Amino acid sequence: MSRVLRPLVRLPWRSIPLRPFLARRSYSTPSTEQAQGLKTDYLDLNRVISKHGFTDYAQEYLGKPAPEGIRLVKAKLDVMIDGKARGLRYMLLRDACQCNLCVDEHSKQRKFRTSDIPPVIVPRDVQWDGKELQIKWSTDIEGWGPDHISKYNVAMLKDSRANPPRSDTGTMRRRFFWDKKTMEECQYWVSYEDYMNDETAFVKSMRHLALMGIIFVKDIPDSREMVEKIATKMGPLRNTFYGPTWDVRSVPKAKNVAYTNVSLGFHMDLMYMNEPPGFQLLHCLQNSCDGGESLFVDSFRVADLVRWRHPERFEDLTKLHLNYEYNHKEHIYNNSWPVFETEDGDPKNRVIHVNYSPPFQAPIISDEHIHKHWPEYRRAFATFAGEIERPYNAFQLKLNPGECAIFENRRVLHARNQFNTERGKRWLAGAYVDEDAVLSTFRKCRNAQYHTWQWTRVLGPRNAARAAGEGEATAENHGTE
Ligand SMILES: [Zn+2]
Repeated sequence: MSRVLRPLVRLPWRSIPLRPFLARRSYSTPSTEQAQGLKTDYLDLNRVISKHGFTDYAQEYLGKPAPEGIRLVKAKLDVMIDGKARGLRYMLLRDACQCNLCVDEHSKQRKFRTSDIPPVIVPRDVQWDGKELQIKWSTDIEGWGPDHISKYNVAMLKDSRANPPRSDTGTMRRRFFWDKKTMEECQYWVSYEDYMNDETAFVKSMRHLALMGIIFVKDIPDSREMVEKIATKMGPLRNTFYGPTWDVRSVPKAKNVAYTNVSLGFHMDLMYMNEPPGFQLLHCLQNSCDGGESLFVDSFRVADLVRWRHPERFEDLTKLHLNYEYNHKEHIYNNSWPVFETEDGDPKNRVIHVNYSPPFQAPIISDEHIHKHWPEYRRAFATFAGEIERPYNAFQLKLNPGECAIFENRRVLHARNQFNTERGKRWLAGAYVDEDAVLSTFRKCRNAQYHTWQWTRVLGPRNAARAAGEGEATAENHGTE
């Protein structure tokens, strides 16, 4: 026992009786105290300094050298994966065991607490074939017998999370950035029938949504019920004070600016909430007025342009927090968001969310930090806001009855041209689905049809025609980012 760990044990070093060497290899379920005593005894007898300069505990723990690609040090083992040594603490490996003794087969709930793991836990047997790591423990959690074997495959050792953020279904997935021209060529349409009833078509739709942040559904039956059907195929409806679904129609004296016939600038919805909805649907039921076109901008691409041209302004916008509010008699909300949210808050990392909603901005006059840095912040914000308005960024289309746009609310900015209600009618039905739910659907699609998910690419008109003739696997990858 090292000087570092000894105080944790709270047992006098000399009071622990020596045990025969063989006892270490035959399994027993010792109490924590016994186990710690056992480790203490043999530490100095079997430890050797390897020729590579590290202290090798294989003899002490296993009674033999470690398998190839593994080295055992005191509180962790190093395993070679993809030519790189990955250090894994025994305690955390034990904690990660997914066997049926540790995790209920059906509920997938854990059957032990992290705090149940003895503070000193080491392996008594280690197997490694380059693909799977197997460990038997010499001091396991009380109640776990000698048959307990912990197994880990390589993928799990690299990232054990169910939906890793940097995977192609996670929050930090790579995206396909688009501008007006790209979107005019590459917009993705799926029929309502295929979206609802053809699982492969649905997987392709979700993959396009994951990459582009916006897709369109067409040939939707003329019914107010449809927006809910389309939304719940992706996940449960997100309820808000607007209701589980809502309508955008021209009404007099509307409280929300979306409910009038004047133009509505680029914005994101519900930024004044703590969890703004991740995805939004707009189903067009009527649109016979003059005007009323929908406009969309890929704010991630704009953020990327800002980062590329003016890294310092990009960084400023990761620090500038703006206030948003909804302040009426019945509902009072406010929240604050940085304009750009990046992975771990590091401006060098990927953008996770953009937060921009001028119609719902609230005063920031009480923020001393903003007062102090306003010249830099103003310049950075003007750069971003100006870029959003450039004509080459905005994709415009007039939704027809029977068409629905599904878009990522925290990425794709939306706006609407003004329309004339004296002639014709305009009626859109809307709904929200939370980001968590849609990410889960992305993962489900990927698991169910891995090949389709993996090979679905954003196609321009030329590639789309070719793909239709030859099958999609031959289509070129436009790449992401
Ligand atoms: Zn287990």
